[in-house]
Amino acid sequence: MTWLNDLAAKALTGTVPDRDEALAVLRTGDDEILDVVAAAFRVRLKYFGRRVKLNYLVNIKSGLCPEDCFYCSQRAGSAADVLKYTWLKPDEVLAAAEAGVQGGARRVCMVASGRGPTDRDVTRVAGMISSFKQAHPDVEVCACLGLLSDGQAETLHEAGTTAYNHNLNTAEDHYGEICTTHSFADRSATVTAAKQAGLSPCSGLIAGMGETDEDLVDVAFALRSLEPDSVPVNFLIPFDGTPLGGEWSLTPQRCLRILAMVRFVCPSSEVRLAGGREIHLRTLQPLALHIVNSIFLGDYLTSEGQAGGKDLEMIADAGFVVDGASAETDHRDLVRIRRRGAGTDTPANA
Ligand code: SF4
Repeated sequence: MTWLNDLAAKALTGTVPDRDEALAVLRTGDDEILDVVAAAFRVRLKYFGRRVKLNYLVNIKSGLCPEDCFYCSQRAGSAADVLKYTWLKPDEVLAAAEAGVQGGARRVCMVASGRGPTDRDVTRVAGMISSFKQAHPDVEVCACLGLLSDGQAETLHEAGTTAYNHNLNTAEDHYGEICTTHSFADRSATVTAAKQAGLSPCSGLIAGMGETDEDLVDVAFALRSLEPDSVPVNFLIPFDGTPLGGEWSLTPQRCLRILAMVRFVCPSSEVRLAGGREIHLRTLQPLALHIVNSIFLGDYLTSEGQAGGKDLEMIADAGFVVDGASAETDHRDLVRIRRRGAGTDTPANA
């Protein structure tokens, strides 16, 4: 389709699409879905080849959050059946992170629930990160601790933290529909502070929260303006016991269109297929690999993902290569490594 080819050509030169073009991607029909994927694939191929980066989540503090994010199983008063625990001990965090490294992860994401950390919390996490980096200097560490106060991003950076994740989640105009205890501006300010401290900014969105096409385009452009190095795209996991528990609006094709739109708006950013891919994309996940260049391996913060071995099989079967794996490595070797490990498909989180 000519207009999709034109859109891909723009992205190949790093040119931003206009809003109407981004909206048009979201409004394509199912008969055009392979054209959309093919156009986005050209962009993915130019910037990332056939590589897939693996990321691994370690949930270092779970539940018990005072904030009210409507989508979150860890929100205040959540009736969702998830694990609740305060800070894991450093050796527990390091053991969980090690499992991710053994599975092939290039980045370990250390995530804590809560509005934001105290300075003492940051010191605690900085110590864990510093220990991990001594053992694995080549593995990236991303911290995700909520809203940051003055000086905290700098402390994390000095400890060897690679990146900081804080998602914008949805459009500014829609933000009041998904959270009342902090604002879109609060989130945006934390991403900016992390970047200014020298941390690689990671910020993304959650689709499927009752937003309009315009909202999705707005958040994609807002993300682009923050110049994130990585953009996780989540699809709502509608946990029972949360306000968005009944929100099932996504189809696999809709998910592919959203990923493609984000790829066109942020062509050279690492676009990561994040939470909800298994339940919303289902058997179309391999098609999504033609758009994104990064996935989480294994489980999410409070829900089980596809087993790590299945992810590696999917990557190999779709003709992609795990980022960082040696040219000689057969992905099936990695799968076998994962399967040999005791319980290696289940990290610390539920
Ligand atoms: S998204 Fe973060 S801040 Fe919001 S309720 Fe969940 S843990 Fe708390």
